[in-house]
Amino acid sequence: MMLNVAETCGATRALGPGLRAAVWVQGCPFRCRGCLAPDWIPDRPARHVDIADLAGELLADPDVEGFTFSGGEPMAQPGALAALIRAARRRRPLSLVCFTGHRIEELRGRPGPEELLREVDVLIDGRYVDARNDDRGLRGSANQRIHHLTGRLRDFPFDDGPRTAEIRLRGDEALMVGVPPKAVAAAWHALGEELS
Ligand code: SF4
Repeated sequence: MMLNVAETCGATRALGPGLRAAVWVQGCPFRCRGCLAPDWIPDRPARHVDIADLAGELLADPDVEGFTFSGGEPMAQPGALAALIRAARRRRPLSLVCFTGHRIEELRGRPGPEELLREVDVLIDGRYVDARNDDRGLRGSANQRIHHLTGRLRDFPFDDGPRTAEIRLRGDEALMVGVPPKAVAAAWHALGEELS
């Protein structure tokens, strides 16, 4: 099974509890104003990767204890992401945090999204609303909700913890990992415009 991936990060502390590997999928049906990842909104071929290969890649760091799925829109590729976490969990008891622009009520009863929801420990749902970005927690704006779908990860302050972001340099490209403080996001956008 293949997944259309925009980006990956093998180890980060900016996207949930502990050390996590992150996958950003390509393609999102929403166009939230102020989206941090506009390049990943178009539904176009990016990196098509085999699930088993990607699981191995994301488990390369032996200290990774969970995955975070974001995008793009993870619920646009739910079957492949569910297969990815199941394949990885056969090798390690990972936790899973997943972002989605849908509200959970829109996902319930749909076979594909339900398949992925069965694997998710914490779902962060809802569109990003720039005017409601309150600079707190791992959700981008205050309208987004934290759903604890299992008993795991309950001690982490998803809603109101301090924000962190990491800048990863890859050759002549830079990747921002995490949900950045507003000032950092603004500086990031300004730098991007200056360089483009
Ligand atoms: S749902 Fe997320 S990825 Fe999609 S446009 Fe909104 S902020 Fe961007």
